[in-house]
Amino acid sequence: MILQMVKMRRKLVLIDINTQRDFLLAEGKACIRNHRRVLVHIRRVMAWARRKNIPIISTCDVYPNNNGDENHYCLDGTEGQKKIRYTLLDNRVTFAADGNTDLPRDMMRQYKQIIFHKRCVDPFDEPRIDRLLSEVRAGEFILIGACAEDAIKATALGLLQRGKRVTVVVDAVGAHNKKDAQMALRKMQAKGARLVETKSLAGATHLRMVGACHCESCLGRSRTRGEPACPERTCGEPVESSRRIESKTQAGVPEDN
Ligand SMILES: [Zn+2]
Repeated sequence: MILQMVKMRRKLVLIDINTQRDFLLAEGKACIRNHRRVLVHIRRVMAWARRKNIPIISTCDVYPNNNGDENHYCLDGTEGQKKIRYTLLDNRVTFAADGNTDLPRDMMRQYKQIIFHKRCVDPFDEPRIDRLLSEVRAGEFILIGACAEDAIKATALGLLQRGKRVTVVVDAVGAHNKKDAQMALRKMQAKGARLVETKSLAGATHLRMVGACHCESCLGRSRTRGEPACPERTCGEPVESSRRIESKTQAGVPEDN
């Protein structure tokens, strides 16, 4: 009995939120700020989870392709809706967003990664995700992905409300609006979430390779003065800060993919 409790307290579950091409790549339809930095840390956390055999629950947005209505990103059937390649494990199962609450028995034992599609920001608005996140027993939920001010916040607050322990890996979390993101993180912390950086979770690394995005900044190529960091400045990353990052760039062999 005591052993069981100790085990449960230590059990970690990684929740990987909206790590999709539209949010994380320069060419994406809703690219976050500083996407290069966030991608490096997401890659690092995913490699850590794989190495430590930590179960992964992934939630990703899927919106109907209504030719311009409402959402213009993460549309069903588009490239932008797909997850970044290194956020996918081979041993995975995917559930469509269909209002159903069925979950296979022993699913967490059978699969290393469970992917849920959702048609909304808050994962708890999808009955099946609500059921799993409410029922799964874990000592701590680790959150990464996008965006701090919406889906990450909704996931964190929903888990905290259900009495779960939540840790947010702040440098592996992206945002569209810096101010809103800071406010959201403060709120999560005030409600009991722990805020950590990737290095305190997964250790320090020299890995600087993004390996998913092909914009100039992510490839670490030099640019002529005044040229934006990303095509059409979609990521909102200022030229000066990306140049500083670039000067620190080291070529390295990706440790995992
Ligand atoms: Zn990029």
